[in-house]
Amino acid sequence: MINVTKSYLPPLEEYAKYLERIWASRWITNQGELEQELQEKLRAYLGVPHFQMVSNGTIALQIAMRALEVTGEVITTPFSYVATTTAILWEHCTPVFVDIEAKTFCLDAARIESAITDRTSAILATHVYGYPCDVEKIAAIGRRYGLKVIYDGAHAFGAKLNGLSLLHYGDMATVSFHATKPFHTIEGGGVIVHTPDLARNVGLYKSFGHIGDDYFTMGINGKMSEFHAAMGLCNLPRMADFIARRRELSRQYDAGLVDAGLEFPVKPPNIEYNYSYYPVIFPSERQVLRVKVELAKNGVNARRYFYPSLNKLPYLKGADCPVSEDIASRVLCLPLYYELDPADVNRITGIVRHACGR
Ligand SMILES: *Cc1c(COP(=O)(O)O)cnc(C)c1O
Repeated sequence: MINVTKSYLPPLEEYAKYLERIWASRWITNQGELEQELQEKLRAYLGVPHFQMVSNGTIALQIAMRALEVTGEVITTPFSYVATTTAILWEHCTPVFVDIEAKTFCLDAARIESAITDRTSAILATHVYGYPCDVEKIAAIGRRYGLKVIYDGAHAFGAKLNGLSLLHYGDMATVSFHATKPFHTIEGGGVIVHTPDLARNVGLYKSFGHIGDDYFTMGINGKMSEFHAAMGLCNLPRMADFIARRRELSRQYDAGLVDAGLEFPVKPPNIEYNYSYYPVIFPSERQVLRVKVELAKNGVNARRYFYPSLNKLPYLKGADCPVSEDIASRVLCLPLYYELDPADVNRITGIVRHACGR
């Protein structure tokens, strides 16, 4: 079975070296030595002022909203993983969906202002597939209306805009290191922060709001264990390799699908892309479903990332977002991972082309 993604696992001996350190220290979680080491390495890798490691990308979003005191309405994208929306709901805020750009599938900055009300306190946008939101326009709107800007950068690790990590932008950005992401710590995530005060607050929130016997605020448990950090320490030095390989495989898909009558998101200039996904837009939903079935018959599991458009979640009453709904109905992500065999990419493009009548 070829899945849409396959988690990279380092050589077992390499992971075991870290396990020996854990056994020697007998310190397995709560600001352990490996977690601290990985946190600092990630901060340096991203070139950001403060990086707070957390236990997953969803708690990262919730803690970011707490730390920025987000309340009321949050303007957000309907085209993302469901956690972007549910994090808003868990924080007792109201998601207000604004439609996406037809080229990058990111929140359309030109439509934000008309959705602002006196209850709006923040914008939460996703750099979907690692494509950058219009960070400059969104920052200007944030400043003009006094709104906090948070980016869900779950797909953005390793991507750069204007030479800076994409995670550098916004009042805060969050990232996920879940097993399905190109760089993973099994479960894990982080919050990128720009001031020492906010970094301290995020650190408090992820650790029950207290340091020793001093209680500062109501926190939660967002800590990363040493076993998870060990996986990150094994995988991080391979990040450049991961991206290079994904780039090659993506180019192979590009070449194989060039005249198959498909659409693709458009990369803006000034970006160094991380090739975190390989999304394809088919001419119709019927065709997506047909291709998905044909792939499945051949042992290939492609995924409808992202479907449904989040404004259509059954437990919400979101406004219509025609662009997002259209893209969500026609998108399919093809398998893309470090160990994917180029022969399988050829096989997959063959099946897709055949199912498209080429
Ligand atoms: C994966 C993902 C998340 C959630 O991250 P977890 O680490 O699985 O909690 C949030 N937002 C987006 C866009 C994602 O793809």
